[in-house]
Amino acid sequence: MRRLRRNGNSILNREVLVLNQNYHPLQVCTAKRAICLVYLGKVVVVENYRNIIHSPSIALRLPSVVRLDEYVHVNGSEIVLTRKNILKRDKHQCQYCGRKSVPMTIDHIIPKERRGKDTWTNLVCCCHACNRKKGNRIPHESGLSLLKKPMKPTRIHYIQQFVKKEQSSWRPYLYMEPI
Ligand SMILES: [Zn+2]
Repeated sequence: MRRLRRNGNSILNREVLVLNQNYHPLQVCTAKRAICLVYLGKVVVVENYRNIIHSPSIALRLPSVVRLDEYVHVNGSEIVLTRKNILKRDKHQCQYCGRKSVPMTIDHIIPKERRGKDTWTNLVCCCHACNRKKGNRIPHESGLSLLKKPMKPTRIHYIQQFVKKEQSSWRPYLYMEPI
């Protein structure tokens, strides 16, 4: 394993999509973890990347999608409500002015002072300028409007964010259009 690690540490950190036994997307793990799971018989490989990985004794294609051998019951599709996940959902774009690439904060659409809650539908990514402009008001009172209605993301939405060009083999499993 030492050689394998030295040869391709970055390859072994490549993201692998993990599907439930019924092909429902569950999570993303590293290729290293996926290969361990294959050897333990916990998952089967569904799709591969083009890369081949070598160890002293084996050469195998790098898995890109694996599927659990046994169905696991998932407790809902809860994505944890965190500042980081709000920013991710909104793609680091101010949900009022649409600016990107500036420092962002989290805005309560209905301010806390007016009993606005910490929920997916009341929190949005917001630039500091809009946040100052809005103050403790609701958007229309300050002449601001939201680009879109904030939604609670599903597990599938969450995983879709990991999809780059090289993860095109994931797309059918995440209900995304082929490219
Ligand atoms: Zn803004």
